[in-house]
Amino acid sequence: MTGRFANIIVDISHEKVDRPFQYRIPEVLQGKLTVGTAVMIPFGAGNKRIKGYVMEITDIAAYDEAKLKAVDSVIEDGVGAQADALRLAWWIKEHYGSTMIAALKTVLPVKRTLKPAVKKIICCRVDAASALAHGAEYEAKRQKAKARLMRALAGQPVLPQALVTGKLHVSTQTIQALARDGLIAVREQNTVRSSLPEGLEDGWQEGAPSGTSQGTKKELSPHQAEIVTQIMQDFDAGVRQTYLLHGVTGSGKTEVYMELIDRVIRQGRQAIVLIPEIALTYQTLLRFYRRFGSRVSVMNSRLSAGERSDQLARARNGDIDIVIGPRSALFTPFERLGLVIIDEEHESSYKSENMPKYHAREVAEALCGMKGASLLLGSATPSLVSYYRAKKGEIRLFELKERLAGGQLPKVYVEDLREELRQGNRSIFSRRLQALLADRLEKGEQSILFLNRRGYAGFVSCRACGYVMKCPHCDVSLSEHAGRDGREGRMVCHYCGYEAERARLCPQCGSKYILGFRAGTQQIEELLHRDFPGARILRMDADTTRSKDSYERILSQFANEEADILVGTQMIVKGHDFAKVTLVGVLAADMSLYAGDYRAAERTFQLLTQAAGRAGRSALAGEVVIQTYQPEHYTIVHASHQDYEAFYEEEMAYRDLMRYPPAAHMMAVLILSADELAGAEHAQLLADRVKRAFDGKDVQLVGPSAAAVGRINDIYRNVFYIKHREYQVLVEIKDALELYMNQAQWETDSVQFDFNPMNSY
Ligand code: ADP
Ligand code: ZN
Ligand code: ZN
Repeated sequence: MTGRFANIIVDISHEKVDRPFQYRIPEVLQGKLTVGTAVMIPFGAGNKRIKGYVMEITDIAAYDEAKLKAVDSVIEDGVGAQADALRLAWWIKEHYGSTMIAALKTVLPVKRTLKPAVKKIICCRVDAASALAHGAEYEAKRQKAKARLMRALAGQPVLPQALVTGKLHVSTQTIQALARDGLIAVREQNTVRSSLPEGLEDGWQEGAPSGTSQGTKKELSPHQAEIVTQIMQDFDAGVRQTYLLHGVTGSGKTEVYMELIDRVIRQGRQAIVLIPEIALTYQTLLRFYRRFGSRVSVMNSRLSAGERSDQLARARNGDIDIVIGPRSALFTPFERLGLVIIDEEHESSYKSENMPKYHAREVAEALCGMKGASLLLGSATPSLVSYYRAKKGEIRLFELKERLAGGQLPKVYVEDLREELRQGNRSIFSRRLQALLADRLEKGEQSILFLNRRGYAGFVSCRACGYVMKCPHCDVSLSEHAGRDGREGRMVCHYCGYEAERARLCPQCGSKYILGFRAGTQQIEELLHRDFPGARILRMDADTTRSKDSYERILSQFANEEADILVGTQMIVKGHDFAKVTLVGVLAADMSLYAGDYRAAERTFQLLTQAAGRAGRSALAGEVVIQTYQPEHYTIVHASHQDYEAFYEEEMAYRDLMRYPPAAHMMAVLILSADELAGAEHAQLLADRVKRAFDGKDVQLVGPSAAAVGRINDIYRNVFYIKHREYQVLVEIKDALELYMNQAQWETDSVQFDFNPMNSY
């Protein structure tokens, strides 16, 4: 890296990062500095010698060159966690377009010291056998929460209260009642903040020998063992690459992860496991603790700053080998990182919604490259991006095809809502769903009704024939926008801004039942009350989960069988196993199918597959009803057969035809402005520059247009999209736009780049 000036930060901590200082690089040091190099610099009025880190090297002096102080010397041992963080931040900045400071803030942990925390723990006052007996007694009395707690205590006599009320779904009233009965005691404990946010560690240490890998380890099936062998052969031979493990839920992926981790940490290396936040369940964590004891640490967004910094210190000191957590856990400062695992790699939560809009999968790959680590992606429904790369041979594919611990895949019915209308059924529930709901109520089994509103954008479709209004240019669904001043609404494309008058008659069959699609969870709850007056119903959506613990509370009520039917949005489909659920209804699969962006079908396939996975998790067989106006749509057909491969083939044909990722790459450029006119002008200006500068280079420009949500907090949003087969060309375009904006002295945060966006804007 060459350049005559270095931008240096003096303290890599979250708060101070936003103040880099520029120094001159003396001739003797030129060419010797790189991002992350630790240097000594003269600082402040007294020119005290302090340590700093090179953040950026440039040829542009920020001030009068003569006034710049010079870098003193290089600190030779200046490699390590700090340098890693800087290098990774640099990569993120270059790759996604953001300021170095924004990138550093993403990568660097919060640093702050806090007082030790006080924690409540629950101690069992009877022995294990007696706890089990009490558990059985409560079970017989249908006091499920009490039964659950006593059984848990039989296994681990000390449990943190946070875990009991949280993941175990036991209320504080129940805890108090058991304490009054003398079965348990609640105590306070002063702790060095545990590496385990749920406090699992305390219970673990009391309950079982720590850090052994005996006892809970499963004998791997031949298929599982083969995967481990293959990956470890590479590892031992020094070959590092990315692997994709495609296996249905329950096929033993987690067991493969754990075996690989075990082998890698035995070689003195460390591992990071990414899990979507919502899937960080008690059961998952417990499996890791059982196997690895206190060498594991968990990160989640609920950790306080102090807890987080304690954990990071432990990671830096090498006190832990394994970190489990969501996206941000990737930035754990492990010196000897050997393996990164991303479970449910298709999840959109791995993509940051804030600048820099990085994808954890891509950053993980860069990180693994820097650290000489292997990357394993796992999913039952791999992202098209990863599967495409696997097919091209860029990453290595492994498959696990069978469920191991029994449990049948559920029976899936696809119900045609057009046919329901033809038969005179105007209800939101098909006749089959009504019949099955009645049957479950009769048998005392539970049902989940699911409204997949994710990405829902108000498409317009024909109730008689299923026809959906689409953009003639982009082949995505048009979204209905309410008309102003009493005018008729319009239909708008969220990519190119194409607009059309709201259709009144179906262009395909002439029916007047062409309508904007509307259904809410509240409305469904009301209809259920009307159709099934005796049923106990719980609703879970953004409205009912606003208060702090409501999410856990609703799940615990349902787990306690205090309700027959749970109605909710996609937040109910993940990570939770309810043994008594034998029916899952997807009320309108079309809602996510016509979300108005190129990933709508992929997301729908994933959601339907997951929703189907909620039914029949135990010995009881499950049934799934998918309601749709387009039963012949390939997404619905293949999801109902759980045929990923067939879905992939058809979806890729569409992506290829339309040049959507992963067949090509797409970059969204979002222009933010407090001024409506200026915003639109700036968008046009940038788009024109792209057109001129990259003319003849096979660049496809879509827009600019107002974003679907055209204004947020009085900031106007305009957007355009650029498609190209080469990612690198998009990076060049981004660089050119950044340069232009720098020269024109635009606000740095007025334009956002999003590479291969997960949704339309
Ligand atoms: P996934 O991560 O693919 O959902 P898991 O690893 O959780 O799958 O395995 C599903 C179930 O099968 C778990 O209960 C697990 O304990 C069990 N299991 C996994 N591998 C084996 C094995 N080799 N032998 C016996 N049971 C296994
Ligand atoms: Zn029609
Ligand atoms: Zn369009």
